[in-house]
Amino acid sequence: MLTITGQSISSEIAIGMIRFYRHKKNIVNDAVAADPDGELSRYQVAYHNAMEQLQLLHDKTLEQIGAEEAEIFEMHRMLLSDRQFHHAILHSIIQDHKTAEYAIYSVGEELWNRFIHMEDPYIQARGADIQDIMNRLLFLLSGKKESSMDATEPFILMAEDLSPSETVQLNSAKLLGFITRQGSPYSHTAILAKTMNVPALMHIDIKESWDGHPAIIDGEKQCVYIDPPKELIEKYRIKQASMKKKRAELHALKTLPAVTLDGHSVAIYANINAPADIKSAIDQGSEGIGLFRSEFLYLNTQEYPDEEVQYQIYRRVLEQMPGKHVVIRTLDLGADKKSPYLALEPEENPALGYRAIRICLSRPELFKIQLRALLRAGAHGQLHIMFPMITSLWEVRRAKELVTECKAELSAEQAVYGNPILGIMIETPAAVMVAEDLAKEVDFFSIGTNDLAQYTLALDRNNAKLHDFFDPHHPALIRMIRMVVDAAHKEGIPVSICGESGADLTLTRTFMEMGIDALSVAPNSILPLKKAIREISLN
Ligand code: PEP
Ligand code: MG
Repeated sequence: MLTITGQSISSEIAIGMIRFYRHKKNIVNDAVAADPDGELSRYQVAYHNAMEQLQLLHDKTLEQIGAEEAEIFEMHRMLLSDRQFHHAILHSIIQDHKTAEYAIYSVGEELWNRFIHMEDPYIQARGADIQDIMNRLLFLLSGKKESSMDATEPFILMAEDLSPSETVQLNSAKLLGFITRQGSPYSHTAILAKTMNVPALMHIDIKESWDGHPAIIDGEKQCVYIDPPKELIEKYRIKQASMKKKRAELHALKTLPAVTLDGHSVAIYANINAPADIKSAIDQGSEGIGLFRSEFLYLNTQEYPDEEVQYQIYRRVLEQMPGKHVVIRTLDLGADKKSPYLALEPEENPALGYRAIRICLSRPELFKIQLRALLRAGAHGQLHIMFPMITSLWEVRRAKELVTECKAELSAEQAVYGNPILGIMIETPAAVMVAEDLAKEVDFFSIGTNDLAQYTLALDRNNAKLHDFFDPHHPALIRMIRMVVDAAHKEGIPVSICGESGADLTLTRTFMEMGIDALSVAPNSILPLKKAIREISLN
């Protein structure tokens, strides 16, 4: 057995087989086929092998487990042999001269995108099945000897690096945890892992030879065991069960308020990355959505979604949170979150570059599509629109002007729209320093401690090597947060924390003492945070 330590994002445990993740980027780079006939026969062989594998899996599962469990493989056979899907791949290889990998990837991706944006949760869930099928075909094409694990079994994902757009595409129902060489606990990939409630270990010296080997991730000890003995697996299964029991006990707090022993209360909201996360936010008793990172919805689409698509999604979020506080953040793309349709050029310092509100203000035609969709959705609930990465007063004023322009357009079109509350993220030192002026312009602040720490401490939040220097308790940060709270309260507006520090229980008392109005955290952090608050006495 090997024991390797890294940097963890949570205390969760994962037990399962490792699967090495091959970047799809390479598939896209090798899009054009040198020999289309050869590609066609490679695809046909992979297709027949996949159909055969699925039949075997179906029969084996039917015999050893049951009919219901076996059905999934029958459904995968049906999806794989669907005429339209199959023909689209053949067309891409024969007519467009693409490689088999690229054809599968691009056709599957398009279908996946269509499925996950459907309203019907059953069809949405089929997106994961499309991914399974794509992975099976790509795996067969890679010519690698099949690992002991089937592509449809739960797995621990091992990768050199994982971008946020790759992470949002993972089949979260099968994902037990991640181990990666790159990345840091403050990266967006780690944030996504937290929302999925799986452990992630970063800064691990991974080896491709671990592919298909059993492993245990111990988030608390920040280590991974490769090829653990049976007794250790058993010990961790017991530990996992007791953690599950403790979590279930926390559910007793679900309907109770987050109030200290001496009566100071705070609202607790959930951070979500997709409408699908609302379910866990509700399960954990969230009082609302404090941060919906809207850009995650659009990371993988080939085109920027039109107003109607965006409107339907935002409306659905609000309708699932009737009468509750919902904050939707406008596009925060750029830096590590790249979208093909924005065609962002490589930059020397992407975190300091063309991102978030800077893209939106310099491309108002794009920004207004989102604003119009948000305004229309605002007629269906308690919507708060939040602008990210603000550094200057003029940016807020310009964003507000665009909102007014959109309202005028909608009025002229006699469209129904709401009157959302407007706020900003405080996540740059500049915004902290002018917080008193900014507070006069908006109705709420939310402090993004992830970026605030990055820019204040001059530390790239994605760089695994800097982990030891990334100190969320740094006095500079604490003083800045206090300044922002004071500035907001002086102008009579509420202020929340929506960065990862909001869930850091070692900071909860400090934030409560400052008089923070709300904390917005990953759904699974809500109940532990509530428990901690209910045990604090401030006086
Ligand atoms: C932050 O910066 O703290 C934040 C909440 O936004 P994100 O993590 O998406 O950059
Ligand atoms: Mg941020």
